[in-house]
Amino acid sequence: MTDTQYLAPATLDEAVGAYAAADGAARILAGGTDLLVQMQSGFVKPGLIVDVKRIPELTAIEETGDGGFVIGAAVSGATLEKSTNFGRSWPGALEGLNLIGSTQIQGRASFGGNLCNGSPAADSVPALVAGDVKVTVQGPDGRRELAVADVPAGPGKTNLKPGEIAVSFHFPPRPPHSSDAYLRMIPRTEMDIAVVGCGVNLTMDGDTCTAARVALGAVAPTVVHVPDADAALVGSTLDDDALEAAAEACRAACNPIDDKRGTIAYRTSVAGTLLKRTAAIAAERAKA
Ligand SMILES: Cc1cc2nc3c(=O)[nH]c(=O)nc-3n(C[C@H](O)[C@H](O)[C@H](O)COP(=O)(O)OP(=O)(O)OC[C@H]3O[C@@H](n4cnc5c(N)ncnc54)[C@H](O)[C@@H]3O)c2cc1C
Repeated sequence: MTDTQYLAPATLDEAVGAYAAADGAARILAGGTDLLVQMQSGFVKPGLIVDVKRIPELTAIEETGDGGFVIGAAVSGATLEKSTNFGRSWPGALEGLNLIGSTQIQGRASFGGNLCNGSPAADSVPALVAGDVKVTVQGPDGRRELAVADVPAGPGKTNLKPGEIAVSFHFPPRPPHSSDAYLRMIPRTEMDIAVVGCGVNLTMDGDTCTAARVALGAVAPTVVHVPDADAALVGSTLDDDALEAAAEACRAACNPIDDKRGTIAYRTSVAGTLLKRTAAIAAERAKA
């Protein structure tokens, strides 16, 4: 750690320049709740740390005027929780971020760090994928926008190009009677890694579901969107048959590991159960 340089630029251009110039030897620091643990354990030894928390765009919470939100990639869950309008519109995305760790961790952990760390069990990512949230990234070749669903590439890997930094997350305006929810299964009550995570985003017209997106975490090498589950829910009243069809689609989308937290059969079964519970919460919120 002693040879690591630290830079805290005030502009994105400076951050991208330094990050790209380090040619893979640098790491971005947001909350540091993954990065510092990885450095402490010797898993990564960056030559340069680029702290992005002094860059206004990465720490801003903006309402776009049409009902959407732009959330800086380094905004912590604790800060975001103070934005009552965001919590009202996107309770599932907020609960995904604020399930992370403990109160201390939630004061640091960001959507950007959770996504870019590349864990298949990242708790905020299923709700972002279910919400069809887009992420703006900036690198040496300029800016581009990606669907969050297209960022994870496998455990510890992303599809960001060398030198690219996640800048902000764009939450689209919500049609009336839309909401979301995130649930995870862990063996303990908190401070554990998801055995399965499920994000559901719904629009309701009375008792009928008119739009749905379902995403699962911790059941495959990346968080997965489950279009067959979306299709099973849309047009239904979320009756038992529709929920069972969506649960079956979730089970079919599972390709999990077998480890001490859960066997393949257990994770697959839990994915279906979580879908039903998460959809019920999202529907209740959407109808309110
Ligand atoms: C005690 C403890 C409990 C935890 N519990 C959970 C949990 O329950 N659920 C869960 O999902 N995670 C958990 N984590 C992991 C961690 O807290 C989260 O993944 C968190 O969201 C990481 O965010 P951060 O801002 O701290 O990221 P950092 O640690 O700052 O960064 C994480 C990685 O992403 C990169 N990065 C960060 N920001 C950007 C950016 N803007 N652009 C490009 N790359 C970037 C960094 O270089 C690094 O490789 C836990 C960690 C600890 C220490």
